Amino acid sequence: MTAAPAFPMFVSVSEATAHLSALLPEPGVDRVPLSGALGRTLAEALAARVSHPSATESALDGIACREADTLAATADQPVPLRVVGESRAGQPFAGKVGEGECVRIYTGAPLPLGTDAICPVEQLTDQGPDLVLLRRPARPGDVRPEGQDFHAGDVVLTEGVPLTPARLALAAALGHAEVTVRRPYRVALLSTGDEVVAPGQPLRPGQVYDSNRVGLSALLRECGCEVLDLGHALDSVDALHAALDAAGGADLLLTSGGVSMGRYDFMRDLLIERGTVTFWKVRMRPGGPALLGRWAGLPVFGLPGNPVSSLVVFGLIVRPALTGQPLRPVRLRAGTEFRGVPDKTVYARGVLRGAEVHAYRQQSSGVLRSLSESDVLVIVPEGQEVPAGADVDVLLL
Ligand code: AMP
Ligand code: MG
Repeated sequence: MTAAPAFPMFVSVSEATAHLSALLPEPGVDRVPLSGALGRTLAEALAARVSHPSATESALDGIACREADTLAATADQPVPLRVVGESRAGQPFAGKVGEGECVRIYTGAPLPLGTDAICPVEQLTDQGPDLVLLRRPARPGDVRPEGQDFHAGDVVLTEGVPLTPARLALAAALGHAEVTVRRPYRVALLSTGDEVVAPGQPLRPGQVYDSNRVGLSALLRECGCEVLDLGHALDSVDALHAALDAAGGADLLLTSGGVSMGRYDFMRDLLIERGTVTFWKVRMRPGGPALLGRWAGLPVFGLPGNPVSSLVVFGLIVRPALTGQPLRPVRLRAGTEFRGVPDKTVYARGVLRGAEVHAYRQQSSGVLRSLSESDVLVIVPEGQEVPAGADVDVLLL
């Protein structure tokens, strides 16, 4: 009888992510200008230093007036108002507006004292420089109240969010020129396999191009990581041993291939026999054989070699651990049936057709086109089937 392994096997996707997060070091922080912060993760909460708008202001070009003065205005019986001044963005009208009066106003300009509504320029007829005729009542809704976006002191951006273009613009509007962001993880990347050849080289029968390293390197950079490309190692204990040693200094080593059940899957053997294993195998398809362990203190995540598996496991387990951003499924209607399997969650490639998701024609984990030509991963929970017409959780690719 063989002894039970000393590490958990067949963990769930969320358990796998939690295990990997626990092995990653606490990221340091950098202080960077907004221009250098795109894609970085905010490492502080950002409060508004000002209110926006700073005062109640106009949302369009026209006149500011008292709504009550304009209620009777129609195209046939326009209401005259006397123009007593102008309010421009950055140059407010200093006085107070009285009954039967108005002020010419432009988008972003503060609403003068005494006024509560805007009449857009399209609804006005000028009768000389100091008189306008309104053909419709003014609208209070064309006013942007003070603090409509945020008030000074409001905490508007929370720690841990990725800085997208919209969030960088918001940080600027809050009054920040620099932000504290997480220091990128340094991730060493290695592909393995005797049959694996760098793209562009001639290919002999039975060989495959190293697509995993290209895809994984891009995924890592998308997560804001610094990539230490260790190239490719042959399927030998010595070659892998040397590559593992070369990754020292990184925060994580990501490998592809050699962690499954095969005789030449030496990455698995090395970690089990000479490293430490945190878990082996995840209850997912594609991607089942993934392995997490440590090599002299360095966390090592062994991705399966199958091209779809390696990229899907990255997206489901590695990315959430590196970025701290959980998976965010959305609900869609299944236009075709999606089959499940017992004891594994299936992540099926799906194509959007209108508001429905259809199964991609080929679900093999070796068919890289299925990822390239699909829009979503459809989540079929363990032991379940999704019939056509049912609602299903999907992850956007
Ligand atoms: P393995 O996990 O090493 O057993 O590999 C499983 C399958 O993935 C085999 O068909 C390999 O040829 C293929 N494979 C392994 N590594 C890569 C890679 N870097 N790029 C593309 N395919 C790979
Ligand atoms: Mg292999």
